[in-house]
Amino acid sequence: MERMALHFEILENGKVKCLLCPHECVLDNGQIGLCGVRKNKNGSLVSLNYGEVTAIAMDPIEKKPLFHFNPGEQIFSVGTFGCNFKCGFCQNWEISQAKPETKRVTPEQLVKIAQMNRNSKGIAFTYNEPLVWYEFVLDTSRVAVREGMYCVLVTNGFINEEPLELLFQSVHAMNIDLKGFNRDFYREIGGDLDVVLRNIEKVYNAGIHVELTTLIIPGKNDDKEDLRREFEWIADLDKDIPLHISRYFPNYKYTIPPTPIEELIEIYEMAREYLNFVYLGNVWDERYESTFCPDCGNLVIRRQGYEVEKVGLDEEGKCTKCGRQIATIIG
Ligand code: SF4
Repeated sequence: MERMALHFEILENGKVKCLLCPHECVLDNGQIGLCGVRKNKNGSLVSLNYGEVTAIAMDPIEKKPLFHFNPGEQIFSVGTFGCNFKCGFCQNWEISQAKPETKRVTPEQLVKIAQMNRNSKGIAFTYNEPLVWYEFVLDTSRVAVREGMYCVLVTNGFINEEPLELLFQSVHAMNIDLKGFNRDFYREIGGDLDVVLRNIEKVYNAGIHVELTTLIIPGKNDDKEDLRREFEWIADLDKDIPLHISRYFPNYKYTIPPTPIEELIEIYEMAREYLNFVYLGNVWDERYESTFCPDCGNLVIRRQGYEVEKVGLDEEGKCTKCGRQIATIIG
């Protein structure tokens, strides 16, 4: 359904400038922005995907992936359509780059469905890019918080500062894609590395739980010196930020073969020199998915796929052996 957008500027001759993300699309009447979901309608900006849901599921929170935020919980997960990046390797291109069938809900209805039918303590906005579902995510997360629930975003982190800050009151955790540490690669997919780094810092400094994901694509973003600089940058912010290094598989427009496991392990070992919590995604090997306490070496959470066993974690998210904080527990 159409809904008046937030964050835009009215220009001369019926044009509008969207100020939601750094693309800052200038649109003539009837024109739609790069994300495919914001339109100039008679000199005003409307969101085209407000309340339009393409996917609903109860997922393990580990699938987002969030490994250090309410580990072992199931979370009600929703998505719509549209994206402000154009990744040729998109794993969800059917909903990010096209408009599939949708079901229409209000924020109140969605929160009720999450509470009553699915019994979830939280809502994850995921599957496509939630930042281009901005008004609906903001409204729904505010209703959810009033109902005592928590909210999670799985995002590319490509948004202007003001709209990002407005989300801080009602979002509790984010997994942000850090799609490499190379400005040219970011340009190729329609983003900007510096904006994403600034936003990761902002989210972290706002006290929101942050985890990062880097999908490793051979020949595209796997330069070892770039990756070393990425790990150093994260460590400078906080060595405890969990990093998910994920295996790429060909999808959408990319036909490059999958990332070799040996290369992922090499990158994992390098990241471990800098960071306390590094995981390999899409590899399904307990050794690279489980959490160990960096202080005493205790096995804290054993993971095998989405089977999660909190063998050494207490109810406050601390290591049972030495008391070090490992995970954020809320709700
Ligand atoms: S949110 Fe969409 S319309 Fe707005 S600036 Fe970004 S790509 Fe353009």
